[in-house]
Amino acid sequence: MTGQDGSYLAESLLSQGWAVHGLARHAPAHPHINEGETLVEGVQYHVGDLSRPDEVGSILKSVQPDLVFNLGGISSVYQSWQQPYETALVSGASVVSMLEATWQLQQESGKEIRFLQASSAELFGEAKSTPQNEMTPISPVSPYGAAKAFAHHAVSVYRGRGMFAASAILYNHESLRRPAKFVTRKITAGAAAIAAGKLDKLSLGNLSAVRDWGWAPDFVDAMERILNAPEAMDFVVATGVSHSVQDFVEAAFAAVGIEDWRAVVEVDDSLARPSDAAEMRGDITKISSELGWQPSMDFESLVAAMVRNDQSLLQDDQAPQF
Ligand code: GDP
Repeated sequence: MTGQDGSYLAESLLSQGWAVHGLARHAPAHPHINEGETLVEGVQYHVGDLSRPDEVGSILKSVQPDLVFNLGGISSVYQSWQQPYETALVSGASVVSMLEATWQLQQESGKEIRFLQASSAELFGEAKSTPQNEMTPISPVSPYGAAKAFAHHAVSVYRGRGMFAASAILYNHESLRRPAKFVTRKITAGAAAIAAGKLDKLSLGNLSAVRDWGWAPDFVDAMERILNAPEAMDFVVATGVSHSVQDFVEAAFAAVGIEDWRAVVEVDDSLARPSDAAEMRGDITKISSELGWQPSMDFESLVAAMVRNDQSLLQDDQAPQF
């Protein structure tokens, strides 16, 4: 629950009066808590490791939840190429142990427990059609996508068994809490630092990748709607609009007053991935028509909000490291 989505979800659930329990990898306020983690006042944190089914199972048992949101795992596609086995374990296999523990609790108590899996557009890999929808074939091209695909199938298996288990197929979603290992924050923090004279050059990988970037708080709202739906189903969550990494760079540098971004951005091939889908764009027809969900933030506003935030963090000496 310490990641971007977990923190927004916790805030939303607390504001609705839920008691919120969150899994954290380290004790809250521990000095080694990773950069990019956000703790929310009012959440009851439990320290546990997703790769240890016994730990996760006993936390679920002690909490006796009504709703379970699984937002955990290795969330960076880039990192999944460095740590493919850990990714399979924490973003894939651990979901089965969480589903099984939830199923067992439900059997024991006789009370429905709803389960939401944060699934991913990476399921579709190098999709043959754009935009992708819930019927697009699953064919991942990264260790991250393969682990998420396994978890996605496991959710359907437990749904078939009679559990309310649903997947939100999330496209990239950003916010002021996005860690700088993701390209959007790296670009906005980099542009702010270059404009302030604190950085000379920004190194990036594949500028031609095209992604559908949404606003994380909107996506958290979508996850809640999916879990509150009359029936457990999978939904694509996206904006339906895509832009290239280069478009993002241009917009971010323009926002800090630098038109000639090519003079300060260099391409470093070592940051490119062994395979990287050319374009990902989601079709939100199903979630719009069935759950009335719509994104609230367009691309230009998202870039502007992230840049403004990084400029003010820089002034307060709190810029993220990348
Ligand atoms: P992901 O889609 O979850 O992997 O989110 P990222 O923000 O890490 O990457 C989005 C896209 O940006 C991918 O196509 C990357 O290959 C591309 N990209 C280009 N340069 C960079 C970079 O320097 N860092 C990262 N993280 N991604 C980059």
